Amino acid sequence: MTDFDLSTIRNIGIMAHIDAGKTTTTERMLYYTGFLHKMGEVHDGNTFTDWMEQERERGITITSATVTCYWKRHQINIIDTPGHVDFTAEVERSLRILDGAIGIFCGVGGVEPQSETVWHQADRYKIPRLAFINKLDRVGSDFDHVVEMIQDRLTRYALPVQLPIGKEEKFLGIIDLISMQAYYYDQNTLGFTFRTESIPEDLLGQAEQARELLIECVSEFNDELLSLYIEGDEIPEELIRIAIRKGTIDNLFVPVLCGSSLKNIGVQLLIDAIISFLPSPLDMGSVTGYEKVTHEEIKVFPDPSEKFAALAFKVQIDKFVGKLIYIRVYSGSIKKGESFWNHTNDKRERVARILQMHSNKKNDIEELHAGDIGALVGPKFTITGDTITSPDLPLLLSKMNFPDAVISIAIEPKTKADLEVLTEALTRFEEEDPTFHVHQDSDTGQTLLSGMGELHLEIIIDRLMREFNVKPNVGKPQVAYKETITTTAVMEEQFVREVNGKGNFAGVKLRITPLRENQLRDEKRNLFENLIDSSIIPEEFWTAIEESVINALNDGPLINSTVERVKVSLIGGMFNPVESTEAAFRIATSMCVGKALREANPAIMEPIMLLTVITHEDFVGDVISDINSKRGKIDIIRIQNEHLQEIVAEVPMSELFGYATRVRSISQGRVVYTLEFKKYEIVPLAVQLNILKRIRGY
Ligand code: GDP
Repeated sequence: MTDFDLSTIRNIGIMAHIDAGKTTTTERMLYYTGFLHKMGEVHDGNTFTDWMEQERERGITITSATVTCYWKRHQINIIDTPGHVDFTAEVERSLRILDGAIGIFCGVGGVEPQSETVWHQADRYKIPRLAFINKLDRVGSDFDHVVEMIQDRLTRYALPVQLPIGKEEKFLGIIDLISMQAYYYDQNTLGFTFRTESIPEDLLGQAEQARELLIECVSEFNDELLSLYIEGDEIPEELIRIAIRKGTIDNLFVPVLCGSSLKNIGVQLLIDAIISFLPSPLDMGSVTGYEKVTHEEIKVFPDPSEKFAALAFKVQIDKFVGKLIYIRVYSGSIKKGESFWNHTNDKRERVARILQMHSNKKNDIEELHAGDIGALVGPKFTITGDTITSPDLPLLLSKMNFPDAVISIAIEPKTKADLEVLTEALTRFEEEDPTFHVHQDSDTGQTLLSGMGELHLEIIIDRLMREFNVKPNVGKPQVAYKETITTTAVMEEQFVREVNGKGNFAGVKLRITPLRENQLRDEKRNLFENLIDSSIIPEEFWTAIEESVINALNDGPLINSTVERVKVSLIGGMFNPVESTEAAFRIATSMCVGKALREANPAIMEPIMLLTVITHEDFVGDVISDINSKRGKIDIIRIQNEHLQEIVAEVPMSELFGYATRVRSISQGRVVYTLEFKKYEIVPLAVQLNILKRIRGY
C-alpha cells in the first residue's frame, strides 16, 4: 500500500462491567460501519463477537477478539477486552497494545466495580479514554448521576460533550454540545439513518450551560480557543474538537457521551468521537524498549520505513488455521513470506500468512505496518508477551505484567486414550493463556491446573469437553498457597561423600532473612546476595550455589509450595582444591536452604482477594456479617445510588469458594460482585494448623 496513512488508524479497546452493553455496542458499531449485514442481539445468542460457544451461553465475552472496521476513511481496530476479573490477564494484554479506549457505563448501574478496576488498570498505561453512558432507555437511568459517579470515582477530568433528550422510555435522541444540534435516530432502519434538528426549546438553557462549562474546561488545551473564549467571540466547532482531542490524548480530559445501543441511539456519534478524539499510533509517538544485551534504552517510532518491531499480545489456536499470533506492530512492517527474529527465545521464524481478524472471520492480507494489529500464521515458538523484530534489531519491549494464579484443581483422565488428548489440550491452553498453568503434584502424581479464579478453571474444563471431547474427573478447587519465613536463621552445611573412590566435598554457610513485600522489586520473589570472596569459595562455584538456592526455594518446608519474600545471603563456606565439585556445592546448598527454612519459623501464605459487592440496602447487614464470618476485613461501605450500597472488603480466597451461590441467596439475587487478586498474606496460626492437617495429615 502506498497511500498508507498512519493518522487514519485507531486501535481502541472497549472496557466495561459485565452487562453494561459492551457486546451490543460493538455489534452496533460493526453494523453501522457496514461490516455486518444482519444485526445480532445478545439475548438471541447470535452476536458476532461472542463467537465461542460457551460465550454465547454465558453471555459474556471471554477472549479478546480483534475486529477491524472502517468509518469515514479511517480504520478502527477494536480490541475486545473481557469484562470479568477472572480474566485480568486478557485485560492487561489488550491494554498494553491499545492507543485509546471507550469505557461503557450502564445508565442505571453507573460506575460498577469492574469498570472501576479496569479504568484504574488503564490509568497505569495512561490510555486516553472516552466514556459512553449507555442504556439511557432503561427505567431508573440517570445521566447526571452517572456523570457525577465518573467524576467522583474515576476522574475529575470527565465532562459531557453530549446531553440526552428525555430519559427512560422517553429517551428520544442526543444533543451534541459541539455542533449544538439534536440527533434523532430512525428506528425503521435500526438507527442506520438519523436526522438533525435544532435543540428542543425546553433543553436549550441546559445545553447552553453545559456547552459553556465544556468550552471553559477545554480552552486550557488550545490558546486560540482560550483567547476567543476570553474575548467572548464566536468559537468555531472545529477548534473545540481540536482542543478536546488534545486534552483527551494528554490524559487531561475525558469526553462523556451518551446513548442506548440496544435502541440504536447515539452509536454513530460514538464512532465519530473515536475518530475525532482518540489518538492514532502517530499521536502516541515512540515506544521504548531496551537493547537485549546492554539493556540500553532503544526508542522505536511508528514509521513503516523503519526496522520492524512488534509485540505478540495474544496466541489463539484456531481449529482450521492452527496457531494464530496476534501482534501489534510498533515500527516498520512485515510481509507475508518474510522472516522475523524472536528475541525473547532467540528463534528465527517465518510468516506464512497474515490475517486481519473480523471477530471469527479472517481476511488474508499481504502486510502489516507500524501501528497496525493483525494475526500471523506460521510461527511455532512465539508466545504471548514476546518481542519480534527484524533480525538486525536486538530489541526487547517490556514484558507484560500477569498476576499470580490463586486457585488450582486436580484432574484425572478417565481412560488411557483420554490422557494423550488431555496432555495435548492442556499444553495448548497453557500456550494461549499466560495465567493458566499445569503441573504435576510431586506427592500425589495428580495433574493440577491453576488459574485466576473458579470461573477461569471452569471454562478450561468446559473447553476440554467441547473442543477435545474429554471429560476428566475433576477435584474440588484448592487455594494456591505459598510459604515464607518469619525470623532470621543462619545455617552451615557440609557435603562429604566418597563416590567411586573419589572424595566429594563442599561447605556453605547461609543466612536467610524474611522480607516485606515492598522490599522486592521487578517482579522478584526472593533475593540472593553473595557476601564472600573467592578465597572462601572459588568463583567457579558461585553460579551453581545461586541456582541451587533458587531451586531449593521452590520446595517449602511445610507443604512443598513455593517460598517467597526471603533474602538468602551466602556468608561463608569451605572448599577443597581437589575434592570440591559443582555437584557437591549444589547438594550442600540445597540441604542448607532446607534446614535454614525449617529453622526460620516458616509460615503458610494465602491469596487475599478484593471483594466488591453491590446490593440493595436491605441486604447490606447480612452481606457484611457473612464477610466478617469469613475472616474478611471491610474496607469501605459507600452509597451507590438511592437504594444500592457498595461494600469493599479483603477476604481470603479459601473462604470464597461457592460465593456466587451464597451471596445470591443472602441478597435474594439482587447483587453484583467482583473478585480481584490483592496480595498474599500469612494465614493465622489456627488456619495454618488446619491446612497442615488436611495436606500433611498432622
Ligand atoms: P456486555 O456484558 O457488556 O457485553 O453487555 P451486553 O451487550 O451483552 O448487554 C447486556 C444486556 O443488556 C443484554 O441483554 C443487552 O440486550 C442489554 N443492553 C445492552 N445495551 C442496552 C441498552 O442500551 N438498553 C437496554 N435497555 N438494554 C441494553
